[in-house]
Amino acid sequence: MEIRQLEFLKHLRLFKRHVYLDHNATTRVSGRVRRKMNQVLKHDYGNPSALYELGRRAAEVMAEARQQVADAIHADPGEIYFTGCATESNNAVLRSLSGYFYPGKKKIVSTPIEHPSVLRTLEFLQTRGIAVEYCPVDRQGRVLPDELEGMIDGDTFLICCMLANNEIGTIQDIAAIAGIAKRHGVLVLSDCVQALGKIPIDMHGWGIDYASFSAHKLYGPKGVGALYVRQGSPFAPFMHGGHQENGMRAGTESLHNIAGFGAACRDVGRLLARAERIRALKSRLVRRLREIEPDGAIHSPDADGLPNTLSITFPNVSNAGLLAALDQRGIAVSAGSACSSQDDRPSPTLKAIGLSDRAARETIRVSLGCGTSARDIRYTLKVIRDHVAGRTLLVNMILPAQLDEAILFDQGSYILDVRPQFQRRNFAGLPNSHEMSFVAVEKYLRLLPRDKHILVVCHRGYLSQIAAYYLRSKGFERVSSLRGGVAGWKARQGDLYQKYAGQNVTVLEPVK
Ligand code: PLP
Repeated sequence: MEIRQLEFLKHLRLFKRHVYLDHNATTRVSGRVRRKMNQVLKHDYGNPSALYELGRRAAEVMAEARQQVADAIHADPGEIYFTGCATESNNAVLRSLSGYFYPGKKKIVSTPIEHPSVLRTLEFLQTRGIAVEYCPVDRQGRVLPDELEGMIDGDTFLICCMLANNEIGTIQDIAAIAGIAKRHGVLVLSDCVQALGKIPIDMHGWGIDYASFSAHKLYGPKGVGALYVRQGSPFAPFMHGGHQENGMRAGTESLHNIAGFGAACRDVGRLLARAERIRALKSRLVRRLREIEPDGAIHSPDADGLPNTLSITFPNVSNAGLLAALDQRGIAVSAGSACSSQDDRPSPTLKAIGLSDRAARETIRVSLGCGTSARDIRYTLKVIRDHVAGRTLLVNMILPAQLDEAILFDQGSYILDVRPQFQRRNFAGLPNSHEMSFVAVEKYLRLLPRDKHILVVCHRGYLSQIAAYYLRSKGFERVSSLRGGVAGWKARQGDLYQKYAGQNVTVLEPVK
């Protein structure tokens, strides 16, 4: 094999990797959980309310899962209510208690770094007469218990404070906060979603009244959450209908999801045993990032934060560009929380710890998981190092919806089709395109115009991306790749495809 070809194949290797570093957004369902869910879907599919054997078996599945969740958080099974997600759990407590106390008592004390499922609900409750005060946090997101205590008055019925923050990983001293609440006769709700499976949880030991959990953050399925309500704490039904969940949350139970949640909780001990390995990987990542960017600001507490979460600001590096560079190399991280990634406003958590709008837009969150390896971290560091040093070669992505007649017939564009023969037989190519062999890209380089915008296309958008990067590395300045490929364009722009596909296609001959 020629040296030039070897060089191109080396380039190919860069695109094979997938590194998932967004475990605070969600996790992949574990094999054990999947098996349990399959068993329920296949065999134990009865309605837990039915009296015949299949129903009784389903009720047993429910009881087992409830016990498993209770064990994982040191609670009694009678204190666990299954919900559709943690957002529902947070909504249920905040609304239910506001209805219960208002107008006798009107005030909730919370923090500015809560998840949107709390912040937005509090905003809504304010429109219904509830007063909300937010206790400030320090630069690492820690609530100061004394300050919190100073905000409690005779009108206060609830403290709402998350246990672990999803964006920066700060862990609050929730037992101290529960102690303060008890002294003042106030209830406590804690969003424990990010904590379960990462740090030990002890509902009875801490003495908090309500807590929310979500299965998909600990290798369980999406669409199932839990709500802990301490025995004797006030609570009202939040979904009316049948008698399910002790009459609190009506509706036929999502049995396979609940069984999956139980199975995930059964693994909590195993997850906790891996936490220190994850923390060591995170420390290595932090050390190397400090070498890459000594002015980088780390917002996550070191030893006493979540073992897996790192929030870091790279001065003068837009997080959107860095995310795109990482994404193009198969690495998933997030900017701020996943819930706000659709929203361009800087995250309230980053603002609350004192970041400017600009710094917030230069901040990324990396969240490691059980499957993260030292190799993943090395690879991620390499991509970040290249990007921060300005060595990332950016390839523009064109969406099928954008590929209109103006681009197709632009004199300044050169369309390069790298699909293999068999795909060309099934689908005609773009008009005015130039066909060449993907596996011998280097033999066509001298034929390609350096003064034009080269649009590389393939069947689905994967090979074209690789070839586009290769061209960038060879000094071609303006290179784009068609996301979704010719197939995506045909699906999206059927009319243009019918009208123009296959017209004026040139087959390029390799240069020896
Ligand atoms: N609370 C925190 C801290 C979270 O991180 C999330 C999810 O990102 C939620 C609540 C909402 O969980 P769910 O997706 O189950 O509604």
